[in-house]
This record gives sequence, C-alpha cells and structure tokens, in this order.
Amino acid sequence: MIYLDHAATTPLDGGALEAMRPYLTTVYGNASSQHSYGRAAANAVISARDKIAGIMGVSSDNLYFTSGGTEAGNTALKGVCAATRGKGRHIVLSAIEHPALLSSARDMCAYGYELTLVNPSENGEVSAEDVARAIRPDTVFVGVMSANNETGILQPVKDIYAVCRERGVFFYCDCVQTAGVLPFADFPADGIGFSAHKFYGPKGFGGLYVGGNHVFKRLLSGGEQERGLRGGTTFVAGAVGCAYALEKAYANADVNNAKVCALRDGFVNRVLKEIDGTHLNGGSYGRLPSNANISFDGCDGEQILFALDLRGIAVSTGSACSSGAVTPSHVLTAMGLDEKRVKGAVRFTFGKYNTEEEADITVNALKEVVRKIRGL
Ligand code: PLP
Repeated sequence: MIYLDHAATTPLDGGALEAMRPYLTTVYGNASSQHSYGRAAANAVISARDKIAGIMGVSSDNLYFTSGGTEAGNTALKGVCAATRGKGRHIVLSAIEHPALLSSARDMCAYGYELTLVNPSENGEVSAEDVARAIRPDTVFVGVMSANNETGILQPVKDIYAVCRERGVFFYCDCVQTAGVLPFADFPADGIGFSAHKFYGPKGFGGLYVGGNHVFKRLLSGGEQERGLRGGTTFVAGAVGCAYALEKAYANADVNNAKVCALRDGFVNRVLKEIDGTHLNGGSYGRLPSNANISFDGCDGEQILFALDLRGIAVSTGSACSSGAVTPSHVLTAMGLDEKRVKGAVRFTFGKYNTEEEADITVNALKEVVRKIRGL
C-alpha cells in the first residue's frame, strides 16, 4: 500500500500512541473530577495546553481545545459573529477556504449575514489588496487559510492580517495544513485553528487560539470545560497525543520538510516530463513541501483515483471531505481553471514515511493508468 494522501490525514505517530496509552487505560479519570483520578487527568491536560501554547508562542489562557479543525473554524466564525452582533453582519472569506468555514458562513447567512468571497489568482494565491477591497464598515470576520488543502499554495497571511488590523476586523487563519510543518509565527492572526490528525496526532482533537481582547460566544453549551467556552468532557488522551505530535513535528520539521519536498519535486518533474498533457496546478508558486496537484488532459481525476487504488496507491481528487460528491473542486474553479482541467485534477500529498521507490512506483502506475484511460 502506498499512501499519498497526507493532506487528508496522517497515520498516528508511534510515540504519540505511547504517550496517549495511559490516558486510555489506567489514568482514565474525568479531567473535571475533583478526586485524584481527575486531578491526574487535569494535570495532563494542563501540561498539554502549556506545551502547545508554548510552541504556538501564545498564552495558554487563549488556547481552547476542540474536536479538530472543523470545530475550531465553526467556533471562531459563529462565536465571533455572535459576540459582535451590534457591529455588523458581513463576513469576508477567501473562496478557497475549507468547508469548515464556507459552510459556517453560509449557516450565518440564514440569520441575515452577508458573505463576500475573495477569489485567488490563477496561481491560487489570495491577495491582501483584494481582501482590503472586500472589507466594509460592517465586516465582523475575515477568514483566509495559511495554505490551501487542495493545492498546498501558501497565502500572504502577514499582509492580510495587517489589513484587518488597520480596519479593526477580526482575522481568522485556518492553520490546519501548516501546523507542524511551518512555524505558526509565519501566519499571525486574531484566531488560529489546527487539527492534530494532520501532523501525525490523533483524529478528533484540535484547538482554537483567540488572542488579544477579542471575545467569542461558545458553540457548545454544557459544563464549564475550556473556561466555559466549550462544554463537553475533555479528550485527555487527545490533548496528550496532540502535544506530543506537535512537538515532534516541529523538532523534525527541517529534516522532514526537506525529505518530503525532494520526493514531491522528483515526482512532479517525472510526471510532467514523462506524461504528455499534464499540468501542475498553482504552478511553482510558494506551496507546502508535500503537495502536488496535477491535472491530466483527457482523464477524469476520479478514474485515476480508482485505478490507482486498485494498484494499492491512495491519492485524492480534492479535499477528502468532498470525495463521494461529484461537484467539481471549488478551489480549482475559483482559480479560474477550465472545467476539463478541474475534472482531470489529482492531489498527491507526501509524508514522512514515503520513499523514493514509492514515488517511482506511482509515476510508473500513472503512466499506465493515464494511457489506458485516454485510450478508452
Ligand atoms: N481546514 C482545513 C484546511 C483542512 O484541510 C481540514 C481537513 O481536511 C479541516 C479544516 C478540518 O479539520 P478536521 O478534520 O480536524 O475537522
């Protein structure tokens, strides 16, 4: 099996599993309980929060644990809208955001909010000038991700944050794809979301940072967990595994990024050279080291995906959340690519356990698969 879908999820790191194990077996107290079982669990959560906040360069008091990136985005967008009701009802998002934000904003439109989407260039980058033009006096929330999950293209977050600060608008950056890969400091924002399963941590755990004097209302009402802003029993093992995985990811980021980037570049060069009618979407613009989004003329991305799957190679045609649906990629469409190029796109995302041999096997399989599909 060759796994080339690390933007969708990564395998759990063995060390993270070992760090989590006690909190799934012997140290099983509820972190809100007052007895010693509870205190042991609560201490683990405190250490995990401090470790993650330290890595992010933020205060632990501003870091809220969530079930992942989707909940972080929902909480930020809906929570900030709820807390700024008197100020306005306008939301600005890049058109290439993950559904976690796009769907949240559409939910808010049912309550009288207006949504403006900012399209990227053909290279997949959203410009700060375009974001500035979209902001109105009644704008309460701007969201632009650090790197797109389909193309891997990095966004000019520092410039966009500067615009939002000047205009006094809350800026949220979905850092799900860059957490553990590139420093959080490269993507400053008022609100930041991340998800552990993208950096070899457990699925179903993530976090939301909300800084400064910004306030938000809670999405999940319940107990007083997360300082009353996110009810629900804390996933203690998740917090421990997330902290372990994030620390390890950054400790090895230089080595892993260089390895993954070399694998990806070698793969892309071979595909573009050895298979006619192939196009790297987003071009050679600044992108995540792991990502290659390639369109194949005369092919349907889904056909390639299934044919590779039969050969034991796992890839994606877009974000995992939209697979199963036949709607074309909203990201490639927003970049202005024509329908055929959008339909023919396949996303390959490399990870730390992939090898050169696996990349070569995939190129050879692609040559065969693409020839067959084109011959049909
Ligand atoms: N944001 C981005 C950019 C993503 O790639 C994903 C997952 O694919 C999410 C948010 C959702 O994160 P989670 O799976 O933790 O809900």
